[in-house]
Amino acid sequence: MSDAHKVTVVPEAVIAGLLSEEEAFEAVEATFGAMARGAAYNFPVIREAIGHADALYGFKSGFDRESLAMGLKSGGYWPGNEARGLTNHQSTVILFDADTGRVKALVGGNLLTALRTAAASAVSIRHLARPDARVLGMIGAGHQSTFQMRAALKQRDFEKVVGWNYHPEMLVRLETLAGELGLPFEAVSLEEMGAQADVIVSITSSFAPSMMADWVRPGTHLACMGTDTKGKQEVEAALLARATVFTDEITQSVSIGEAQHAVAAGLIAEGDIVEIGAVINGAHPGRSTADEITLFDGTGVGLQDLAVAAKVVEVAVARGGATELAF
Ligand code: NAD
Repeated sequence: MSDAHKVTVVPEAVIAGLLSEEEAFEAVEATFGAMARGAAYNFPVIREAIGHADALYGFKSGFDRESLAMGLKSGGYWPGNEARGLTNHQSTVILFDADTGRVKALVGGNLLTALRTAAASAVSIRHLARPDARVLGMIGAGHQSTFQMRAALKQRDFEKVVGWNYHPEMLVRLETLAGELGLPFEAVSLEEMGAQADVIVSITSSFAPSMMADWVRPGTHLACMGTDTKGKQEVEAALLARATVFTDEITQSVSIGEAQHAVAAGLIAEGDIVEIGAVINGAHPGRSTADEITLFDGTGVGLQDLAVAAKVVEVAVARGGATELAF
């Protein structure tokens, strides 16, 4: 008996040219649908301060019985990397063969993380924002922000972008992208954003609310994407009580997502939160009135990583870009 086989390797450097935003969108949308049908589930997330290099290390994993995506994304945050000319956030996806348990592929996970996170908020906009949304509000101007903005702008006929960032000098990043895409950009206060925006995407590392409940006007859709850890927070908890709250996964939403604060304060209950997959599958109507505030709590699940990694392996094998290792 020999277990020798080939392992497909898709290096970080080739991924940019391989996976389109549309492919990432479709992979993430299908995954959310499978999760809500109970066909796919995420294993509990591990993320630990390891007491070396100030690093946070861990993994996200899961299994999708429909697509047979199985594996894990491992990595974390090494704050000293930048000084070495390396990216602080590091991750790699390992895929396994669901029929045999043998390792199938090694895939760079850094760009994929940005693409799958942007795809998640885009999926929420596609399914929950008002069809006539015209002004996009961006809270946050860090590494993820431009991926978020690009994917969001594809979902409606947006005519303008308004932006706010805790560090205002970083807003040039959003302004430049808006210019490239031929849209006007305005730096605004958060109150002004609430008054103007039809859709608001937040992607910050904040531990205190930036957007207050009273500043958001009826009919707005918010995609809160930054809160993925206990203690982080981007919007006032009272906003979740005003909104219909959707999420990728309820377990993560109430423990590490934006909803953790509203649930802890008793403003909403776990049972009030709807999995976005239920909307995708047609089991929940999603937005029911033009005045409803909808809020997507995007916590980031391992199955998103597996879905986009599986897609990029498929594309790399078909179009070139993958190498094979004897294993
Ligand atoms: P980054 O470090 O490049 O940018 C951080 C952003 O947060 C900047 O806009 C910065 O100005 C802002 N910020 C910092 N301190 C703040 C404060 N006190 N109040 C308000 N804003 C503040 O990070 P990034 O790579 O763009 O990631 C942003 C966040 O998104 C991180 O918290 C990250 O963990 C999270 N994230 C979530 C997912 C997901 O699936 N939900 C995926 C990737 C990243």
